[in-house]
Amino acid sequence: MKFTAPRGTHDLWGDQAKKLRKLEEICRDVFLRYNFSEIVTPTFEDASLFIKTTGETTDIVEKEMYVFADRKGRQLALRPEGTPSIARSYIENNLAQTAGIGKFYYVGSMFRYEQPQAGRYGEDYQIGVQYFGNASAEADAEVILLARDILIRAGIKQIDIRLHSLGCENCRPAFRKALTDYFKPDGEKGKELCDDCKKRVGKNPLRVLDCKIDGHKFEDAPKMEDHLCAECRCHMGRVTSLLKDAKCEYTLDHKLVRGLDYYTKTIFEIRSSALGAQDAMGGGGRYDLLIKELGGPDTPAVGFAFGAERVIIAAEKENPDFGREQVKVIFVAASSETFYSHAFKLAEKLRNSELGGKVSIEGPVTDKSLKSQLRLADKLGASKVVIFGEDEFTRGAVAVRDMKTQEQKEIQLSEVMEAL
Ligand SMILES: [Zn+2]
Ligand SMILES: [Zn+2]
Repeated sequence: MKFTAPRGTHDLWGDQAKKLRKLEEICRDVFLRYNFSEIVTPTFEDASLFIKTTGETTDIVEKEMYVFADRKGRQLALRPEGTPSIARSYIENNLAQTAGIGKFYYVGSMFRYEQPQAGRYGEDYQIGVQYFGNASAEADAEVILLARDILIRAGIKQIDIRLHSLGCENCRPAFRKALTDYFKPDGEKGKELCDDCKKRVGKNPLRVLDCKIDGHKFEDAPKMEDHLCAECRCHMGRVTSLLKDAKCEYTLDHKLVRGLDYYTKTIFEIRSSALGAQDAMGGGGRYDLLIKELGGPDTPAVGFAFGAERVIIAAEKENPDFGREQVKVIFVAASSETFYSHAFKLAEKLRNSELGGKVSIEGPVTDKSLKSQLRLADKLGASKVVIFGEDEFTRGAVAVRDMKTQEQKEIQLSEVMEAL
């Protein structure tokens, strides 16, 4: 029997793995600059956590979640996104009291059962932040600017930031009512809806605006911006003015919904023209009610997440060498069995020297002849090869070959470290 990776998953190695680590490095550096600290939560949770937070009527929960029962029959789910787990952890570990400032970042796999498409997989590597306990527009702007910072540092210049407000508990009900009326089941518009939307329009009419089939069909549907209360309007005005001050370009997009139930006020999405027109590298928004709804203290919050591989696709489009840093290699070769243990010892010594922190040490590859070892060293792009050979060794020395110039010098064993 031949095994293959499960549908929707894939392996990463070589340059692709390097690119992922490079992006992670950039992110961790930016998170540090903005004083976010890391939080690590389990990859699976009680399934009902996601049903309650991400939302019963969302595509994620309805169609895309990996749900399974453990041996005791408990319903668990692989996390489809990061926010619910971190919100749960924030409450469970009383981080409001102990964390000083509620700024966290996370890096890890999210799982969704969906049709594989460019840069999107059943197991998706995501990088994101959550900022708890700050209701002000400055927190929204800080999170958006942090996200933009990461993209700029990844060499992505064509950044399309879409911004919208979903209103709050005071102003959204009127908007929902207007949408429900507009899409009433026996009405002209209601009849045009896809089967999924017909079912969910009563429960959650906002979902229609986010539907892949219906989302862009109804130009004259009611708009949230016409229903925003004074507070939400003012909040959005402050966010946009902070972004303008930071010379951050954005587009107000009243069709932006983001497929999650918990958002309030600001939501945003960051797109790149390198990806498909509708596909975002990531996005996020404010969710001021979620922590309280989960039984925690009244805590405003804002966050975002990137799909790492979508960011990498965008980065590669603008900078083909993204993450492709050449590692320096030094090769230690042995001309015959007599020198295997000498060469092995030297390699080990070099790895543990100061040099080892800067270059990779390879060799001796003892099932290959000297000729094959030199060929391999060349293939690996080694800058120098240390050769243990009969003649030199009788003089207590080795040969050091510069692979670029092919120049070879005899160096005393005690002076090899300096010569390299
Ligand atoms: Zn409002
Ligand atoms: Zn629909």
